[in-house]
Amino acid sequence: MTVQPRALADLSPAELAGFAEAQRTAYDDLLTRGLRLDLTRGKPSAAQLDLSDAMLRLPTSPIDADGVDTRNYAGLAGIRQIREMFAELLRVEPEQLVAGGSSSLTMMRDVLATLWLRGGVDSERPWGREETVRFLCPVPGYDRHFVLTGWFGIEMIPVPMHADGPDVEQIARLVADDPSIKGMWLVPTYANPTGSVTTQEVADRLVSMPTAAPDFKIFWDNAYALHHLTAHENKSADVLSLASAAGNPHRPILFASTSKITYAGAGVGFLGGSRETIAWHLDNLGQGSIGPDKVNQLRHVEFFGSAQGVRDHMARHRALIAPKFAEVERILTERLGGLGIATWTNPEGGYFVSLDVLDGTASRVIELAKAAGVALTPAGSAFPYATDPDDRNIRLAPTFPPIEDVTAAMEAVATCVLLAAAEKLRTRE
Ligand code: PLP
Repeated sequence: MTVQPRALADLSPAELAGFAEAQRTAYDDLLTRGLRLDLTRGKPSAAQLDLSDAMLRLPTSPIDADGVDTRNYAGLAGIRQIREMFAELLRVEPEQLVAGGSSSLTMMRDVLATLWLRGGVDSERPWGREETVRFLCPVPGYDRHFVLTGWFGIEMIPVPMHADGPDVEQIARLVADDPSIKGMWLVPTYANPTGSVTTQEVADRLVSMPTAAPDFKIFWDNAYALHHLTAHENKSADVLSLASAAGNPHRPILFASTSKITYAGAGVGFLGGSRETIAWHLDNLGQGSIGPDKVNQLRHVEFFGSAQGVRDHMARHRALIAPKFAEVERILTERLGGLGIATWTNPEGGYFVSLDVLDGTASRVIELAKAAGVALTPAGSAFPYATDPDDRNIRLAPTFPPIEDVTAAMEAVATCVLLAAAEKLRTRE
């Protein structure tokens, strides 16, 4: 018969003291091991990058299927074949997709900067001339989104992220009568860091809800659209069609890239939107560019061959990283399960596990881990203004380290979570 673990909060003071003592001993042992591990980096491992190395010898010819010499200027929207390939994967029309340089985050900043300076296709004036601009930020979320909006001086309002997407009831209430709320962030598929997948129903509400701002924008950052970790391949909501059907075609602006498909430093970024948004974006782009890196785009086209080639390639990534996620899940379940001191996500895709520890202990866990040689993302990173009001969320990124390091790091993290929880509960005695 297996003994069910008891919730720590149910232990008597004496039992808790014994438990805390045992965790302290385990932690002291960790300190002697001289660990140097890192779970902060949401990036592909070298083995994942190796999967794309055949690309380094491509393209075989610089002339694309339309006879375009990719070495030369022009073609702001990107070459036709890469747009067609990724339009199919991202569920948009090729004419509604622009292929650019390597970073989609740069595209997000560009779009925000243009909205700020000149306004969008449906703006009454540039956002920078508004007295206040606010953005809704599903939390926990992607730190760089929040850093970017903060940099513009945009006021950030956190809204909860659920398993089926952001809290659309709360969002609909907020946007209905506050015209200063100009937009929101959303990672719709395998969100960073929760792994949430925004359902078609939630997406439909988001694109159809009445907004006081006529030019409300959803920054639909589909960075992990194709990054499945299981056989259950979640489909992203068809946001552009939904928005168009709802009469708000200009509301979503879609972003994606091959940063975690081919090379994080030399991929291809994509921007999708209504035809008017695309024309607006190309006009903006044209002020600062005569064309993107089409040689790299052609290299990608040749390497994949087709949209199916991209899917097959993603299955090879999955084979490399799914075992690391399974290891995180195994250790969290074995070490923390049933104790009532932590919950965590077991994502079906993406790059992260989101761990919630006992309220008020996330910074302590991160501090303990650091002293033991395990780097964790700083507390609060996944929240606007880097502030987690409950001090409970920790983002774990298991893709980059080798699996032995994931195991060692997660064992150490579990010990730190247990020790921090025991310390916290003892203060309540
Ligand atoms: N969006 C999300 C949600 C991410 O997690 C990341 C990288 O971690 C990016 C965008 C960065 O994308 P890119 O490399 O295309 O700039």
